[in-house]
Amino acid sequence: MTPYEIIQKKRDGGEMTEEELRFFLGGCLSGDVKDYQAAAFLMAVFFRGMTDEETYRLTKVMIESGDTVDLSAFGHLSADKHSTGGVGDKTTLIVAPIAASEGLKLAKMSGRGLGHTGGTVDKLESIPGYRTELSVTEFLAQAEKAGIAVVGANKALVPADKYLYALRDVTATVDSIPLIASSIMSKKLAAGAKNIVLDVKFGSGAFMKTAPEAEVLARKMIGIGKRFGRNMAAVISNMDRPLGEAVGNALELSEAVDVLRGYKGGDIREVSLVLASELIALAKGLTPEEAYARAVDALDSGRAYKQMQTWIAAQGGDVSVLEKNTSTVSREEPQQLFTSPRTGYISHMDTEKIGLVSTMLGAGRRRKEDVLDMDAGLMILKKTGDHVKVGEPMFALFSKTANLYEAAQAYLDAITFSDEAPAEEPLIYKIIR
Ligand code: URA
Repeated sequence: MTPYEIIQKKRDGGEMTEEELRFFLGGCLSGDVKDYQAAAFLMAVFFRGMTDEETYRLTKVMIESGDTVDLSAFGHLSADKHSTGGVGDKTTLIVAPIAASEGLKLAKMSGRGLGHTGGTVDKLESIPGYRTELSVTEFLAQAEKAGIAVVGANKALVPADKYLYALRDVTATVDSIPLIASSIMSKKLAAGAKNIVLDVKFGSGAFMKTAPEAEVLARKMIGIGKRFGRNMAAVISNMDRPLGEAVGNALELSEAVDVLRGYKGGDIREVSLVLASELIALAKGLTPEEAYARAVDALDSGRAYKQMQTWIAAQGGDVSVLEKNTSTVSREEPQQLFTSPRTGYISHMDTEKIGLVSTMLGAGRRRKEDVLDMDAGLMILKKTGDHVKVGEPMFALFSKTANLYEAAQAYLDAITFSDEAPAEEPLIYKIIR
């Protein structure tokens, strides 16, 4: 067996065996397979695709490339959620406390912002003192005691994904369904939770531009998870507009707290409730309706907010920060309120572009080494479907460094107006169980 033969077989549409994948990925990590050979293989996968069986084998071999986390001490209560990424997606900060207040254990690894999308770890780092690195012992003990521990990605988990993802990023092979499915699922499975809910996004701010594409990806990932004995569900949710109103690290934390304290409803509360209730249903064997009612009660009774305070304090964070910014635009940081240039309906928001505006403001990274401005970001006062009058406040920008007028122009470039109200799009397209 040689790397050449494997590339040739995939190029010609062949199905990889487990041995072939183990040989090839092992070679990638040892240096015996060169980057240009791995890149050729990835491009062959991009064009030829992979069968479900092959994607399962690839996921298995990727998991075996590194360490795995043992959450068996939590029995059937260990839980994890994963979002395929979006703009304004702060659902983990709401879902984890709701689920933990129902007895679930979330010992979870989260990512940093990537491209136009935000990352949970960056949002948590807007809390002074919050420790994003814990030893394995601390991590497990905290999840046991506080119900939740959320840390940054562990480098020892799935090194094959680190290698392949970096190559995919520079060879235009990221958006391949089998490669995305194996990349996400290898990390989720290695992280050990018994119950996994996937939030698979579709629309202009997501990898998958349409709901049917997102469904194909979701079904592939569910199939892989089930073969590994995990309880799986997926929610196909709308990312054709930002989620909630806040985009940016401290702003999103503040919005999540507002939802937990009952000050805020709308799309962010609804998606969070659905994700949390799917997790609760999986872990506790409840019907979706029973689990949803539990999730609503956790929010409305204040139990979930208490759980968040317990979690943040256990992980070294300054809990008083949670109480500081409970409203939307009344922040002390440099900000500018911008008004609508015309009267009409907002018919579309190019959500990827809006995510890039938040990067421009200092809330996301252009390069890996960039330092974030935790208070930077934007508040969206009018969203798709809303009617605005010329001169009416439409969005606010926060930044200590950016030219706010250039950023405002970039924001307006992402907005399409129309005279007629646009057709209403569903917030949740489908739940797959
Ligand atoms: N997120 C991942 O972790 N992997 C992908 O391939 C795409 C999104």
